[in-house]
Amino acid sequence: MSCACGEYAHLELYREEIDRRIRATKKLKGALELIAEGGAGDQLLKCAACGQHWQSSRAWNWGAREYLFKVPDIGAAEWLAEPYMKPDEMLIYGASMSRFEEAQSFKEKDEACRAEGCDGRAIELSVLCKRHHIESLQKVWALPQYPRGRPFEPYGDGYT
Ligand SMILES: [Zn+2]
Ligand SMILES: [Zn+2]
Repeated sequence: MSCACGEYAHLELYREEIDRRIRATKKLKGALELIAEGGAGDQLLKCAACGQHWQSSRAWNWGAREYLFKVPDIGAAEWLAEPYMKPDEMLIYGASMSRFEEAQSFKEKDEACRAEGCDGRAIELSVLCKRHHIESLQKVWALPQYPRGRPFEPYGDGYT
């Protein structure tokens, strides 16, 4: 039994990539089995032929349309506890933050971050590392929140 999983790569974080995947999703989904459905409408699916796992999510900036992306193998209970981080959210976060970062210097200095349990180094004009500095600004300014969910490769932690 053959399948089309090999024809799809991990999504690159560009708007056009999400557009394309939204259009391919209906056909692609027909060959997948539903494993679990999460609270926010996310679904975990699996290809019966090759075992590839996929997550279906809604891309809010694209009119909440459904799209599928490849994810690492995972059990239903573990996935339900924390679904994978959504590429559409990583993309929107990255685009908003890059505008913000252009105006900021995040040079590290020779001083430990003061946030509890953090082994990062503080950045200039702050006592905190870059991540904790941005978190503190998110509390008082309307900075975009870090994308929620379980990080996975090839996206690293999704926001750096
Ligand atoms: Zn497959
Ligand atoms: Zn820190």
